[in-house]
Formats: sequence, C-alpha cells, structure tokens
Amino acid sequence: MGADMTEQQGYDVVVIGAGVVGCAVAHALVARRMRVAIVEAGRIGHGTSGNTFAWINATSKTSDEAYHRLNALGAELYRELAREWGDRRIGMHRTGMLEWSSPDDVARLASMRAAAEQLERWGYPVAWVGRDALAAMEPHVRFEDGAEGLHAVADAWLDVATFLAFLAERLRADGARVLEGCRARELVMDDEGRVLGLETDEGRLHTQHVVVATGADTADVLTALTGYDAFAARFPLRRAAGLLVTTPEEPSHRLTRRILYTSHASHLHIRETAAGGLLIGADDTDGRISDDDSEDAVKRAAFDLLERVRSIIPNFAGGALLDGCRLGIGVRPMPADGMSIAGPVPSADGLHLAVTHSGVTLAPALATLIADTIESGELSPRLAPFGLGRFQTIA
Ligand SMILES: Cc1cc2nc3c(=O)[nH]c(=O)nc-3n(C[C@H](O)[C@H](O)[C@H](O)COP(=O)(O)OP(=O)(O)OC[C@H]3O[C@@H](n4cnc5c(N)ncnc54)[C@H](O)[C@@H]3O)c2cc1C
Repeated sequence: MGADMTEQQGYDVVVIGAGVVGCAVAHALVARRMRVAIVEAGRIGHGTSGNTFAWINATSKTSDEAYHRLNALGAELYRELAREWGDRRIGMHRTGMLEWSSPDDVARLASMRAAAEQLERWGYPVAWVGRDALAAMEPHVRFEDGAEGLHAVADAWLDVATFLAFLAERLRADGARVLEGCRARELVMDDEGRVLGLETDEGRLHTQHVVVATGADTADVLTALTGYDAFAARFPLRRAAGLLVTTPEEPSHRLTRRILYTSHASHLHIRETAAGGLLIGADDTDGRISDDDSEDAVKRAAFDLLERVRSIIPNFAGGALLDGCRLGIGVRPMPADGMSIAGPVPSADGLHLAVTHSGVTLAPALATLIADTIESGELSPRLAPFGLGRFQTIA
C-alpha cells in the first residue's frame, strides 16, 4: 500500500522512537498484520540502543519475580526468533555468562549464592562453579585461589546494530512505514481524551494508538506530546549515563569466551564484540560519569577501565590501547523502581508507554505484550505490574 493511501486510511498504530524497544514493538505489531508507522527523530538505533552492553539475561533480576519472568520471556523470544531466522541474522551470540567473586568477599559470595538459589527455584538455568571450572572455561583470566561463581548458561549478548538492521528490513518488507529524521510533535486527541492522531515533522498521521518508545527522553517527549508539564516535572524516570569502551579488534582477540561479570574489579563487565574486540564497562564508573563530562574526564575513566581489565586478564594490553578505543556514553532510561514502565497510560485512551532499562533483554517481551494488549483491547496480565499507575507521583 502506498504512503498516500495509508495516509488517508490511517494506521492501526504509530510507534515513536526507533531504538531496540520501538523497533521490536513495531515488528510485533506488523506480525499481527496491523498497519504501522514508526517515527524516529534521528536515525534507527542512534539513541541508547547504539551504546549499550546488550547482555540478554534474567540472571541479574532476582528481587521481583514478575520482573524476572518478564526478562526471561525476553530472552526466550530471542531464542524463538533465532530458531526462525538464525543467530547470525539477528545478531545473537550465545556465549553464556560467568560471574565470580574472591573468597575474601564473604558478603558478595553469600548474595551470589542466594541469587543462584532463587534463580534455580524459578527454573532459570544457572550452575555454581569453583575455581578449577572457572579457569578451564576462561583460560586467560586470572582467578584467585578459592574463587567461586555463577555460570548462567543461557545468557547471550546481542549485536544491536545487526538486530536493528534485521528488524528494519522486516518492517519494510511487511509494509510498515519507517520515518527517520521525523520528530513526533503533538498528539491529536478528542474532547474525551481519546487519541486520534499524531502531528509529526512530516504532517499528521491518523491513528487511534500511539506507543511512546523514546527511552531516556520520555518525560520531555510526553510533555511535548500532551502539553502536560507534570510529565517533565514528575515522570518517574532518571537518566543514568554509562561509559562503554570498545577496544580495537586485534589485541584482545579471543581473550574471553563468555560475558564476564566480576565483583573482584568493582563490578567490571566484559565481553567480545562482533568485530573481535572487547566491550568493557563497570557499575562504579557509571556512577561517576555523566553525558556532558569533558573529553579528558571520559578518557581517564576509560584508561582506568582498561587497566582494571589487565589486572584480571594479564595478556590484555590495558591502558596502552586507549587511543585506538571507541569511547561511548549511553544514557539509560532508569525508571524510579528500576522496572519497566509499559502499557496504556491511564488518562489517555490509545496512548501506550514502553520505557525501560534492560531494554535490549526486554524489547521482545514488552513488544509482544503491548501488541497483545492493543490487538485484544485488554491489558495483558503480564504487563499489569508494570503500568505507570503504580507511581503515585504522576498517575
Ligand atoms: C552503558 C549501558 C549498558 C547497558 N547494558 C544493558 C544490558 O547489558 N542489557 C540490557 O538489556 N540493556 C542494557 N542497557 C539498557 C538498554 O540499552 C536500554 O534500555 C535500551 O537501549 C533502550 O532502548 P529504547 O529503544 O527504549 O531507547 P533508545 O535506543 O534511546 O531509542 C529511543 C529513540 O527515540 C527517539 N526519539 C526521542 N524523541 C523523539 C521524538 N519526539 N520523535 C521521534 N523520535 C524520538 C530517539 O532519537 C531514539 O532513537 C544498557 C544501557 C547503557 C547506557
């Protein structure tokens, strides 16, 4: 169907934001044969989804069962997609993940054991491993005597650029309209608060359903769309910057096999990239970095990360690699309680949210549940715990 024809008839759904979440939502909608447009102010994947560690897991989600299961559903849906299209086509790398701690860190080991037991009770595949097994799995890593850890066998990482290229191709093949360089400006609503359309840089799109998947920008986007200042002032979302260092291909070649996560060097996380380099981040560095830090401050933090990796992988060149590295700062959309904000907005009929941290893991899960909700007109029960209504500040 040509754009002009669709323009007159309108769309079943318009999705705002073409990061991993918005693209996955649009994909789930076209899979249900809906007429879909996706509107992206910049380019596909150039938001947070272009600067992410992209560990697909429910391993790190043990404090809330519904949230754990939502993440596990995301991981399962990637495996389902891979069964249909192949791992390579969707950019999925099934390496598993190793998290370990030194025996001296008694508190950390105890909390890791408790997490492992919880994951086992919930049926998530993990194994507890001792130092010899750790060393056999990762021969280049220096594990302390007595180190122990968790092997999350089903965890994977995603080459997000490949995944988004795949989704964009599927969207276009299935007749969705993909509008890049096109900002969503204002919702068109009737007197009863029902969505009738969306004003964009390319004119009005007629639709009764708009899904806002604008990541860390969502509070401001909602205010612009609705004219309601309270969203910008009180929407329960924080911007949390994180630094990721990508080393050039050669020096790090095959120094790691799995995703590595260790409390040993301050919550360092490391994995290979599709090009064969390493991708490195750390929880404590993230706490100190902001997206407007000076170039020097970012370089110092990156040097520190590279040296920390050398402290656990002696064959790694460390800070000497700094000049050849890509330094990326991504901004996490971090809901106030850490869990997704997804599903219909209570006060606006036809307006839906899909905003989350862990959006790489969660994208396919949120997408399928939001698509179910829009298609059936009934809130999917698995989305119920994640609505905006749980926050008193704004609902
Ligand atoms: C350092 C770091 C590490 C991370 N590690 C992991 C991890 O290991 N595993 C995991 O699952 N997640 C991880 N995350 C989180 C994950 O990357 C994010 O949750 C996810 O990328 C969010 O995707 P999104 O599509 O919601 O947002 P984005 O990718 O930011 O996309 C939103 C899009 O909306 C567009 N937009 C904004 N306003 C408008 C408008 N008015 N009109 C049209 N378009 C608009 C933007 O241009 C942007 O492209 C990490 C994040 C960071 C920063």
